Amino acid sequence: ATAMQHHGERVADDIFVAVKTTKKFHQSRLNLLLDTWISRNMHQTYVFTDGEDEELKRKIGSHAINTNCSAAHSRQALSCKMAVEYDKFIESGKKWFCHVDDDNYVNVRTLVKHLSQYPHTQDMYIGKPSLDRPIEATERLGDNKMKPVNFWFATGGAGFCVSRGLALKMSPWASGGHFMNTAEKIRLPDDCTVGYIIESVLGVPLTRSSLFHSHLENLQQVSRSEIHKQITLSYGMFENKSNIINLKGAFPVEEDPSRFRSVHCLLYPDTPWCPPGVAF
Ligand code: UDP
Ligand code: MN
Repeated sequence: ATAMQHHGERVADDIFVAVKTTKKFHQSRLNLLLDTWISRNMHQTYVFTDGEDEELKRKIGSHAINTNCSAAHSRQALSCKMAVEYDKFIESGKKWFCHVDDDNYVNVRTLVKHLSQYPHTQDMYIGKPSLDRPIEATERLGDNKMKPVNFWFATGGAGFCVSRGLALKMSPWASGGHFMNTAEKIRLPDDCTVGYIIESVLGVPLTRSSLFHSHLENLQQVSRSEIHKQITLSYGMFENKSNIINLKGAFPVEEDPSRFRSVHCLLYPDTPWCPPGVAF
């Protein structure tokens, strides 16, 4: 047990969790994450945004990274952020790169345990496919030539992880300005571009995990007893209805619409603002 714990602690320091956000969501989304899972995992977490925010800097210092990317929801702006996330990860020297959105709750304890079963030197790309089949894209080669390509990719909205060994191999297509050029070649969003580089260019298959969750799936299906086993959770809209996990927890839905505060009290019951003695 001691050896396992020791290994677990070491891996925790080796993880780089990149949270993608935008200035207009600092209040409405990011603060919730800072109050909950990020507060317990400051060393591992880096926030990538597109505007200056003194309040955010005061809270997390150099872990707040202004990408200077455009604040638009365009393919280019989102690829620009992913490119900066990638470069900062390489620079960090850490062993695992994980990307999440600002509407994800990350259970870092479970993430660490999950990743510790794989060597970071091996080629690993772990996440949840967003489609039930490979995406069909067209690669734009030089002189107006096009080539159809099929590949699986992990949906960015559920979070995904890449080992350092694999991340280093991605460098010619992902480092510096290369990521944005690669994204333009297939004209697809940032998470698809990651899948393209890994599966299509490098030939490394996506390792599927059902422990990553986006709001593109029915989150009601995650049951209370399973929450602590999940790596990421989310909240949002799905088919025009509010899509949240079904948890009768510390706070009612009106006070905690995302359910993230209630999840946090379930996972970290010693948190000062969690109601004491609640029968979870
Ligand atoms: N986002 C961004 N710039 C924008 C809009 C969104 O960086 O102009 C980020 C947002 O903070 C989140 C991710 O992109 O981390 C996905 O955004 P959202 O959840 O609003 O959209 P979805 O694709 O999940 O419907
Ligand atoms: Mn979302």
